[in-house]
Amino acid sequence: MDIKTNIPLSTLTTMRLGGPARFFAEASTVEQLVNLYRNAKKLQQPVTIIGGGSNIIAHDEGFNGLIIRNGIKGFEVVADDGDTTTFKIGGGENWDNVVQRTVKQGLSGIETLSAIPGTTGAAPVQNIGAYGQEIADTFISLEAYDSENDTLVELDWQDCSFSYRHSIFRGSSQGRYAITSITLKLYKKNLKPPFYSGLQRYLDENNISEYTPQAIRTAIIAIRGDKLPDPQFVANSGSFFKNAIVETWQYTKLQEQYDDIPGFKMDDNHYKIPTGWLIEEAGLKGDVINGIKIHTGNALVLINESASSYADLANARDSIISAVRDKFQVVIEQEPLEI
Ligand SMILES: Cc1cc2nc3c(=O)[nH]c(=O)nc-3n(C[C@H](O)[C@H](O)[C@H](O)COP(=O)(O)OP(=O)(O)OC[C@H]3O[C@@H](n4cnc5c(N)ncnc54)[C@H](O)[C@@H]3O)c2cc1C
Repeated sequence: MDIKTNIPLSTLTTMRLGGPARFFAEASTVEQLVNLYRNAKKLQQPVTIIGGGSNIIAHDEGFNGLIIRNGIKGFEVVADDGDTTTFKIGGGENWDNVVQRTVKQGLSGIETLSAIPGTTGAAPVQNIGAYGQEIADTFISLEAYDSENDTLVELDWQDCSFSYRHSIFRGSSQGRYAITSITLKLYKKNLKPPFYSGLQRYLDENNISEYTPQAIRTAIIAIRGDKLPDPQFVANSGSFFKNAIVETWQYTKLQEQYDDIPGFKMDDNHYKIPTGWLIEEAGLKGDVINGIKIHTGNALVLINESASSYADLANARDSIISAVRDKFQVVIEQEPLEI
């Protein structure tokens, strides 16, 4: 297998920052992946698995170990009961291709997750979500290499402890598992309203009243195309911050001061506030801090216009967090993980 040395992480991540990975290899089979982990262990080298690098921030000193890119392919139907179809999908498959293929078959469950960059194996890591769907909604199980016990495992929905942009893979078990495939169960029916307001607006404006998976996918691609920079051409990692989750009393207090503050009830005790709104209201939209631009189309997105180091990004991030905290007493959190 081809193991490369000194590959800049800036070329492997969409924020385009970061120093060299000491070793880099792509695994296209489970066997290759396991061998890479085992050899790295023998040589006492740390290992990190990546996909498209669209949710990783890399440091200037790089990674003193082995970076494995997941290239494990596969897309097979494992069950079909008339109402649902269940697929097992290789972790290295491009996520949006998977959505496209299932939507073409008229299947619902992941159509609002259209146009999210990255690989299928990374999708459970932060429980990807958009416009009302999360991967946890259709997730059945996954297969992974457990690097702690040097064994292949199957984890089900409960094992993964999914929550908002979170799972064990970025929590208690971060770095332990390399996800090789996931199994999803999709539905042969259309989505039903209510939809997120931006999606509903698009559907109304375009006189769409039959909510087929394809109609919803087309709408989502159009909406996202207007709001989000394409990481192929513009360095960014999508939403740089998670939406803010606050307690109900705090949301009520903020509403007294800001009567137009948006919020979505999560449960009896919590509200989710769009962090893009908080950043915009703090007056930062369009600003450039150390070469990092707060995107004018969506203030949740930071664009690397001319930053040359991790410190440039970290300073910009910290200034934004402080400005939001000072104005709203809400502490916002970075979404992408760091290596
Ligand atoms: C323009 C843009 C828009 C985006 N929109 C959304 C959105 O709407 N919703 C959303 O949730 N996210 C969004 N994202 C974030 C990102 O696309 C997702 O988090 C995606 O799942 C990352 O996939 P990746 O393959 O690029 O993962 P990477 O960035 O390569 O990795 C992310 C993390 O997962 C780990 N990882 C990767 N592969 C594996 C594996 N096989 N096994 C174990 N761990 C692994 C990595 O170590 C890293 O910690 C967006 C990003 C961009 C750039």
